[in-house]
Amino acid sequence: MAKADKDLIGLGIVVAMIIVIIANGSSVIADFVSSLISDDNPRDKVLSAALLLNVALLLFGWRRYMDLVNEVAQRRHAEEAARTIAQTDPLTGCLNRRTIDNALQSMITAAQSTGHEVVAMMIDLDHFKRSNDVYGHQTGDAVLLEATRRIRSVLPDRSIIARLGGDEFACAAMYDPDHVEAIDRLVLRINEQVARPIIIDSLAIAVTASVGLATTNCLDKNASVNLATTLLHHADLAMYQAKKAGRNGYRWFDASLEAELRYRHELECGIRKGIPAGEFVPFYEKQIDLDSGALIGFEMLARWRNPRRGLISPDIFIPIAEEIGLISDLSESLIRQALIDAAAWDPRLTLSVNISPIQLRDPWFAQRLLKLLHEANFPPHRLDIEITESCLHENIGVVRTLITSLRNQGIRISLDDFGTGYSSFAQLRTLPFDQIKIDRYFVSNLDSNKDSATIIEAISSLGKGLGLPITAEGIETSEVLAELRKYGSFKGQGYLYGQPSDAQSVHAMLANQDLLREPSIDPATSAYPFPQAAAA
Ligand code: C2E
Ligand code: CA
Ligand code: CA
Repeated sequence: MAKADKDLIGLGIVVAMIIVIIANGSSVIADFVSSLISDDNPRDKVLSAALLLNVALLLFGWRRYMDLVNEVAQRRHAEEAARTIAQTDPLTGCLNRRTIDNALQSMITAAQSTGHEVVAMMIDLDHFKRSNDVYGHQTGDAVLLEATRRIRSVLPDRSIIARLGGDEFACAAMYDPDHVEAIDRLVLRINEQVARPIIIDSLAIAVTASVGLATTNCLDKNASVNLATTLLHHADLAMYQAKKAGRNGYRWFDASLEAELRYRHELECGIRKGIPAGEFVPFYEKQIDLDSGALIGFEMLARWRNPRRGLISPDIFIPIAEEIGLISDLSESLIRQALIDAAAWDPRLTLSVNISPIQLRDPWFAQRLLKLLHEANFPPHRLDIEITESCLHENIGVVRTLITSLRNQGIRISLDDFGTGYSSFAQLRTLPFDQIKIDRYFVSNLDSNKDSATIIEAISSLGKGLGLPITAEGIETSEVLAELRKYGSFKGQGYLYGQPSDAQSVHAMLANQDLLREPSIDPATSAYPFPQAAAA
């Protein structure tokens, strides 16, 4: 029953009682009173009883009414509290994820009727998780409260602030479209305020904010989509850009962001489907002995034959495969194909493969690689693993153990892109590499850049000192080749010797040069001895 109805019923009982008493009881009261003061008027017992009953009913009705009033008040209070809890964040008192959309939509509608626009700000605290982990949740809550207070303190009147969860907030305010610069001032103040150290229990906790901004100005107000949701989505995309740009700053949404993210999403899905579908294929780049000009092997370079977009370069898909945790699957499928291709080549030709730092973190990496070699019956001494300097910043102990165990199986290890990382000469001495590859950045402009020449000279003498052969990547012209040869003996690769090409082209080229494996050699009888671990 509605509380208003209950109110009315309670009140009705009391009013009815009063009317009954007034209508019927007035003469009775008079008789009753006169019987009390005069003995001439004997008390009519029935009337007296009726009067007492009336009074009792009146009191009862009144009490019932008061109870109902109280009950209704309590219920109202409870409903109010439940609504507040449902609509707000219990810690900060801000709106929550469920309610921001409606509040924002109302603000957008109100703004439209007054010629204003609305700006939405998505605010994410940087490094909050770290302080939460280090100082505990109680301190984390205090940080959130203080950050909320500071953000609120700079927002204009009638702004919206919602906590969307964790350390993420959404704010919105109306603004005059002729004064967009006011938004930059506002968000700068938010950044400034949040970045001031937050003192809790004499600890100075540093958090900053990354803010994404989007306005209704560029939205189609007549579109049937929910403007509030779209606006928040745009601000969210911009916030991720702010994070990527280095935190403690802000970014405006721009439409190309959305296209970029859609492209990224397409690539992620494409990689997931493309690996089992065999869309990733090995290409091969020649490796040459520069002194003799002889072909000594190939570096395998991954390519993606994307059904929609054609051939995609590894610089685009390798980092994504790393981020989405598929680099090992991808790499293994490529190596498996490459081993089959290379098994048909002249056995003197080597195969180099690039390995991501993420794969090196896998404690089973060596085992998995040996298993692939075993399955393809490919001799380990023909395989060269290229790891980049950046691997050395990870756990150097793990890398050293891995390199040692791979070398014990006969696999060779090259340090790729040398010169771009920061590996010290001391590290180079302690890690048992088989060769160094000079990054193409220093090679390709060797004939025109004095600094490159100095670096190549230094690396060359380092290689001599450590007894390590050196491969120069990125030889594009005969001028560079001639210049390079002045600094010593190198192996080399680059577009001067041809662009990387697919397995069929390489096979045809090797067939032309009589560099395929002797067909008389039966792989079944020419098995290479593999250690037991390989089959694990
Ligand atoms: P990288 O290992 O340094 O490979 C050499 C890159 O230089 C290749 O680019 C190659 O096409 C390019 N290149 C070769 N010669 C020349 C030249 O004369 N001039 C110029 N300007 N460039 C030349 P690509 O194939 O696009 O590969 C880029 C990077 O992607 C590779 O750099 C490697 O780090 C990575 N990558 C390729 N395949 C794989 C893979 O299977 N796994 C992993 N983890 N990374 C891979
Ligand atoms: Ca490489
Ligand atoms: Ca390289």
